[in-house]
Amino acid sequence: AEAEARFVARNPRSMERHKAARQWMPGGNTRSVLHFDPAPLTMTLADGCMLEDLDGHRYVDFLGEYSAGLYGHTNQTIREAVVTAMERGTVLGAPNRYEAGLAQELVQRFPGIDLIRFCNSGSEANLMTFAVARAVTGREKFLAFRGGYHGGFLLMDGEHGKLNAPYDVELLDYNDTEGAVAAIRRVGKDLAAVTLEPMMGSGGCIPADQEFLEAIRKETEAVGALLIFDEVITSRLSEGGLQKATGVIPDLTALGKYLGGGLTFGAFGGRRDIMAHFDPSRPGGYLHAGTFNNNVLTMAAGLTGLTQVYTCKVAKTLNAAGDDLRRRINVCFKRVGMKAQATGLGSLMCVHFTDAPVKRPQDVKTLDPQIKRLFYMEMLERGQYMATRCMMTLSLPMGHPEYDGLVRAIEDFCVDNGPLL
Ligand code: PLP
Repeated sequence: AEAEARFVARNPRSMERHKAARQWMPGGNTRSVLHFDPAPLTMTLADGCMLEDLDGHRYVDFLGEYSAGLYGHTNQTIREAVVTAMERGTVLGAPNRYEAGLAQELVQRFPGIDLIRFCNSGSEANLMTFAVARAVTGREKFLAFRGGYHGGFLLMDGEHGKLNAPYDVELLDYNDTEGAVAAIRRVGKDLAAVTLEPMMGSGGCIPADQEFLEAIRKETEAVGALLIFDEVITSRLSEGGLQKATGVIPDLTALGKYLGGGLTFGAFGGRRDIMAHFDPSRPGGYLHAGTFNNNVLTMAAGLTGLTQVYTCKVAKTLNAAGDDLRRRINVCFKRVGMKAQATGLGSLMCVHFTDAPVKRPQDVKTLDPQIKRLFYMEMLERGQYMATRCMMTLSLPMGHPEYDGLVRAIEDFCVDNGPLL
């Protein structure tokens, strides 16, 4: 309650703006994940990895637009590419000079992608993988994992219900290899696909066990079902995503987030024989249209980002920095005896208030949400902006000052609140 009172007192303008927004948007909100009671902070300025809010506070941006902000806010190379593209017109109603280059770069990076198509969001990309899987297999049933997030309308928690999964999806427990194998065999010839993130992102940065991924790969193949990886978040964990890092190669992949250079982006791709159905010169080919699928600004930003900024070497460095930061946070929790841990891989992490192993979202779901709320609000007071669920993503402008600052803030939090928790 004290932290909340301080929050309200510190942020009068954000509170005011939120109140006004409520008149026009339900709850003042158009992105559910950004909601925060009593009001989310309104950001007005960004520079590198810094954000400034309406009340003039500055933050290190560890939310990083849920990983889409990998390049930071003001990358000069990407900005120049966008400006150059913009000067030559942005809605050309034709193939443009960038899209094939971006497609080539992605196909070369992701071992599971022979051919690729663009769309406008990770949600759309995932929907397309479901649609394609149903069409090519002629089957209706899908298996996915409880607590997984595949987009605004493919939230696999079985609770938000109404707007969910427009397909016949059965939910299983993440990292339960036996359960997954049994379900795949049981659904068998009715199974169109199994879809999963090779590390759960929104679900809490929970990596999949290697044997879990390998078993699902083997069993889906055995029953003639497809394996779909949602690498919308994990694509940054190596230059070719987690499929490259784990060697488990899916039939279809959904992409999004930073790969569009910080602009609106989605893509889906996969095996040549599957994706070839989209060839419009083929009789009976699948239709996939979309006014902004190849929008010039995204194509230019994405291409420049991958070829000139997030090279293979840079991907290694950023993810190594994330591994080190997570280790330091965990050392800090241990040292002060706080029952907490940072999970994740590379440049993606999430703080959970338990010291028991976290293998699936259900392992942390029943923990006191008040502790996360307190952590979130106290991190804001210490200049650290992150997702309300305490997820953090690194961006390229960050360096030791930001990492050290975060560790210090967490140490302070532990010292101040340790006795309470
Ligand atoms: N899949 C995963 C794993 C995601 O984390 C997200 C977004 O957070 C999506 C899909 C949806 O992407 P978008 O927000 O671009 O629709």
